[in-house]
Amino acid sequence: MNSGALNNAVIVTMNPGRDLLARGGIVWEDGRIVFVGPSDEAGRAAGDRGLRPQDLHGAVVFPGLVNTHTHLFQNLLKGLGADLNLEDWWPQTIKPAAVCIEERHARAAAAGGMLEAIRSGTTTLVDYMYALPDRGLSDVVIEQGLQTGIRLVYARGFRNTGAQHGFPVQLIEQTDDVFEDVLRLRRQYEKPDGMVRLRVAPAAIWALDGQGLRDTRGFADETGIPLTMHMYETDTDNVVCRERYGAVDALATFEEAGFLGPDLMAVHVVAVGDRELDAFSRQGVSVSHNPVANMYLASGTAPVPDMLARGMQVGLGTDGAASNNGLDMLETLKTTALLHKVTTGDPTAMTAGRVLEMATIGGARALGMDGSIGSLEVGKKADLFVLNPACHGKSCPVHHPVATLVYSCGQDAVEKVVIEGRTILDKGVFLFQDEEQVCRTQQEMAVDLVRSADYPADFLAPSEI
Ligand SMILES: [Zn+2]
Repeated sequence: MNSGALNNAVIVTMNPGRDLLARGGIVWEDGRIVFVGPSDEAGRAAGDRGLRPQDLHGAVVFPGLVNTHTHLFQNLLKGLGADLNLEDWWPQTIKPAAVCIEERHARAAAAGGMLEAIRSGTTTLVDYMYALPDRGLSDVVIEQGLQTGIRLVYARGFRNTGAQHGFPVQLIEQTDDVFEDVLRLRRQYEKPDGMVRLRVAPAAIWALDGQGLRDTRGFADETGIPLTMHMYETDTDNVVCRERYGAVDALATFEEAGFLGPDLMAVHVVAVGDRELDAFSRQGVSVSHNPVANMYLASGTAPVPDMLARGMQVGLGTDGAASNNGLDMLETLKTTALLHKVTTGDPTAMTAGRVLEMATIGGARALGMDGSIGSLEVGKKADLFVLNPACHGKSCPVHHPVATLVYSCGQDAVEKVVIEGRTILDKGVFLFQDEEQVCRTQQEMAVDLVRSADYPADFLAPSEI
């Protein structure tokens, strides 16, 4: 079970030597890779285990992509609230729906979002779920992950303050209750196979009071459950810390609470200078870079080349489908490269190889999961996808597989996706899910959620066409 073999393929390993095998094979057993190497040896390694390899006729095998930041519930809000900045987008687009989301919505959004992610080669997905008017919605999302077969990092979002600034009380919780819930989820869902991993995810600095920040750090230290938080998406972090907390700036607030550390993945990190990057680098904070969302909300460009030059761990994310508007990691690859080239005026500032690193082993490192995912190496999980660019107009012809993946691929070239050694997508078809039905349900639930949410009528209609 969960065993298989692929042969006669180009294999982009992303191992420490960044080996690219022009004609190779890969064999896995019980979800773990047991061989990666030349085709003739791969045939024998498979035969020794009673496996018959699939002949890929020169198609390309990549490690599965790691999407380090999404909000699956936002799949139902895709296409709403275009042309706004972050500070207007959240209250107008997200808040009305986040307070009235129910199980059926969360399930439909998660199912649709996960299939969409897998279609673009994603095998590990971080769902940062903060729309939790009902605590049971965490279980709904995690169970959908198990059913779909995607590797899920469930970042349990929360806020413990903000009613006085207009945040809905339905989404404000006591930190102790949140921590108890995170421990419950860990007991219930974290298993040795690593298909589900928990994170604690305070929404942002303005969603947590000073004590909450210190308590969250204490909880992470005590339990070993890592953290993720939106940080410096815009300059609002600094403004809030000055105006509400009387601090010098956000960095002073984080440092005073001892909040920074190698178990923290900061999401966005756009509105920063050398001081913040030096502190993050010194403390080992990793970063989730979400270029499409940053462009969509006009937040700015995260200084990723500077982060990489400092040796920081940076992964890529799409962010939620309401600020992207999708979960397409292939689109994110290309956007990442183009954004940093044009921002720096330097075509070498972000190469295709660098982008692929961030989308695979870099994302795995940012999540502290590089011991088991992020590259195709013996002993690691069999999380991979097969790209067949030669058969698709957009990606054909091919000179270098990495350039093709980053600059000229669409989802239709992703023919096969394997997660934990289990084939989820084959010949472009989901083996265990009725994709059409999932999409139909997602559409119905999107309409249902928007109807029950308190949106002004003119918000739902495009203002200009
Ligand atoms: Zn986000």
